[in-house]
Amino acid sequence: ATPAATMVGTTIGAQNGVLFKGGDILERAKDVDTVVFDKTGTLTKGEMELTDVVVFDGDGQPITDGGDTAADGGQLTARDRLSEDDVLRLAATAEIGSEHPLARAIVDGARERGIDVTDPDNFENVPGHGIKATIGDSEVLVGNRKLLRDNGIDPSPAQSTMERLENEGKTAMLVAYEDELVGVVADADTIKESAKDAVRQLQERGVDVMMITGDNERTARAVAEQVGIAPENVRAEVLPEDKSDAVEAIQDEGRKAMMVGDGVNDAPALAVAYVGTAIGSGTDVAIEAADVTLMRDDPLDVVKAIRISDATLAKIK
Ligand code: ADP
Ligand code: MG
Repeated sequence: ATPAATMVGTTIGAQNGVLFKGGDILERAKDVDTVVFDKTGTLTKGEMELTDVVVFDGDGQPITDGGDTAADGGQLTARDRLSEDDVLRLAATAEIGSEHPLARAIVDGARERGIDVTDPDNFENVPGHGIKATIGDSEVLVGNRKLLRDNGIDPSPAQSTMERLENEGKTAMLVAYEDELVGVVADADTIKESAKDAVRQLQERGVDVMMITGDNERTARAVAEQVGIAPENVRAEVLPEDKSDAVEAIQDEGRKAMMVGDGVNDAPALAVAYVGTAIGSGTDVAIEAADVTLMRDDPLDVVKAIRISDATLAKIK
């Protein structure tokens, strides 16, 4: 393209909230044949809310009627029959120091229920898996199945509860206390209004649409289904450091991929993609690594970016 055409395209982009980092990017975008969306914060609003608390007894059976609070008087032990509020207080206390949206939702949800959330004595993030905290002499774990397994706790008694919540598109997290599974808490996110339209419009152009997430397979597929992404196009349980490898693997099939993401986790994947596109409300690290920044939070602007590239280059050829 001539410098003048590039300038026109870049200007039209900017007027539409689509910032191309250079003329070569503007030229490239039209050739994208695969769009890989990050799930949380990109297809979904990333505004998690606590939706469920399930208590398990010592035998790993869910308790549906919620027991009496065992906490008043003396230290809570895993052998006490815990109430929903007990489980939620343990989870929230463990998560209070975490910035993760899943953690924020647990803490906010607990406070909304009038639960007093205090600081743990210690906590440690386990990226992609959860959190490990100490309260007094006791260890609390909140996270996925792998987190529990890695700490010698069998998550399988909670399997049917986990599956039920995950099939609803929720992120279900196991809560363990003193080496016992004591409950499950779940957070749900809201899909962005235009996500489904964006996916459809891309597919109508002949672009393959994929989704990548650290979330579990079942939750990921439930969300994918709601936005119209095929189950075989979902890459789930991808660890933060493996997201860029996943994008490279997709490109090794000869595809020209646009990765769309918002998080720090997404930055390496944005950098290796043929076109990296950051959501403007996302983290600076993502914007830095990206080739295109979408100033609005609207997934339809992904289609717009490709259209602007198309239109600009068609005109000047
Ligand atoms: P995402 O790609 O959705 O941001 P992450 O890679 O951060 O996901 O986390 C993957 C999974 O690890 C989550 O779905 C959750 O099960 C678990 N997890 C991560 N951080 C936490 C946390 N602070 N508390 C509980 N679970 C967590
Ligand atoms: Mg994200």
